[in-house]
Amino acid sequence: MSSDNLRELLIEELKDIYNAENQLVKALPKMAKAAQNEELKAGFLGHLEETKVHVERLEQAFALLGEPAKGKTCHAMKGLVEEGAEAIKDNDASPIRDAQLIGAAQRVEHYEIAAYGTVRAFAEKLGEAKVARLLDQTIVEEGATDKKLTTLSETVNSEALAFAEDK
Ligand code: FE
Ligand code: FE
Repeated sequence: MSSDNLRELLIEELKDIYNAENQLVKALPKMAKAAQNEELKAGFLGHLEETKVHVERLEQAFALLGEPAKGKTCHAMKGLVEEGAEAIKDNDASPIRDAQLIGAAQRVEHYEIAAYGTVRAFAEKLGEAKVARLLDQTIVEEGATDKKLTTLSETVNSEALAFAEDK
């Protein structure tokens, strides 16, 4: 990544997040399919719909900046998605695996919150208030998703504990 100024850096970072969100559009249906807990399954599907909106908001941000909407491989998200896929591949469906999926999903949300926070700050500094507002809407939804996962983990972790004791 080579950027000569803050505006170019903002565009580069947006390309990274755009790719990351598109990776999630592909990964979330697999996480939903793998989840045993019905609420967790519904949560993943709900966040899939939100994630499609995140992609659209990024397209709006590119348009506001007069740039084509283009992604650039986000290696960090690739790794996070791979860890979720590994959990699915290496384990049978169980509350333990659900607990593992929640852990993978929360890592993703925290990564997104960090990435969006950075680009929102760049947009604000550059006087791109509309872009900053779009990014902020997404940050709020990522935060809400993270909180929902924390709440769900209470139940799922209890299920996971009971599951281990049954064996
Ligand atoms: Fe997102
Ligand atoms: Fe998200």
